[in-house]
Amino acid sequence: MTNINKVRYSYLPQQFAEIDDLLLQIKDFVKTGDFTLGAPLKEFEEKFAKLMGSKYAIGVNSGTDGIKLGLKALGVGYGDEVITAANTFIATVGAINEIGAVPVFVDCDDTFCMDVSLVESAITNKTKAIVPVHFTGYMTDMEKLLPIATKYNLPVIEDACQGILAAINGKNSGTWGNCGAFSLHPLKNLNVWSDGGIIITDDLKLCEKLRLLRNHGMKNRDEISILGYNSRLDTIQAVVGNWLIPQTEDIANKRISNAKYYDDALEKIKQITIPPRPTHMKLVYHLYIVFAENRDELLKYCLDKGIEAKIHYPIPLYLQEGLSFLNYRKGQFPVTEKHTEEIITFPVDQHLSVEELDYVINVVKDFYEK
Ligand SMILES: *Cc1c(COP(=O)(O)O)cnc(C)c1O
Repeated sequence: MTNINKVRYSYLPQQFAEIDDLLLQIKDFVKTGDFTLGAPLKEFEEKFAKLMGSKYAIGVNSGTDGIKLGLKALGVGYGDEVITAANTFIATVGAINEIGAVPVFVDCDDTFCMDVSLVESAITNKTKAIVPVHFTGYMTDMEKLLPIATKYNLPVIEDACQGILAAINGKNSGTWGNCGAFSLHPLKNLNVWSDGGIIITDDLKLCEKLRLLRNHGMKNRDEISILGYNSRLDTIQAVVGNWLIPQTEDIANKRISNAKYYDDALEKIKQITIPPRPTHMKLVYHLYIVFAENRDELLKYCLDKGIEAKIHYPIPLYLQEGLSFLNYRKGQFPVTEKHTEEIITFPVDQHLSVEELDYVINVVKDFYEK
């Protein structure tokens, strides 16, 4: 074995190790004083829309607000039901709750995304929108979901926060629904130095409404068209985004090749099951997750060996204390619950070396051979 003895989860110090040119750009930017809705933000929005293959992009202050503003702009409000995945990150549910709507969960399948065959039975006459989550960098089956949404006349707001450049048959996440929300949080695949988010859409009317909503509903300095929020993407973060965005494809590709490297080695271990890898989908591995026998002991063994493995997540959202008002019960979403006992996440980011990947693989092998 190599001399590696730990594999960290956060790669941020490496990602921003060489930033002399970026610091110069920030210095120039500060001289302009163009701090809110400034020129670098417009540039970032144009670059992001182009990268995704959408017409418009609207910078907002987080991925959570991206989902919230998307729902709000599409007319979802108090008491409305919004269908989403049972095993998402809390922010999806937080966004729905913030506008007074009620999250209605649907179980996932082994791709960690919403099992689309269960959506129709969750629709009631209160349902006003669907928020599929492209969890871990997989894609929800949008080819099956969109006809259901059309049949019931429901808008679709994609939670693409973990899915930058994930795609189905070459069509990117965020471009399938009415709009798609992305997070630029430091731990997301395309990140800035703070909270940040961005929404994409092809619908000009929706774009205009989102631009109003993120800026207090102000048409201009003196006129307020609607009531909105203070949810602008900071222009200084757009300077960071403009610096990093040319690397987005490489970041995705490196994660994809790291995942392939893990898959090829780990599939030989009989106690490990690799989730399905549909060939018509591009998975961008925000998280690299496999199913493992003896998961709790494997996790402990990895942590003891210095590998920052994780569980996404050990407790499903609907069983969390903070969501008890929704009155869900244990056993209601069997796949999500089964996953909580079997899944393990290994670091898969673009800054890992082959030695680090080998170290993870060897530690997992050692564990099952002991
Ligand atoms: C990160 C994330 C969000 C929220 O993004 P923030 O920028 O942190 O607000 C929403 N949904 C999912 C699935 C996420 O992973």
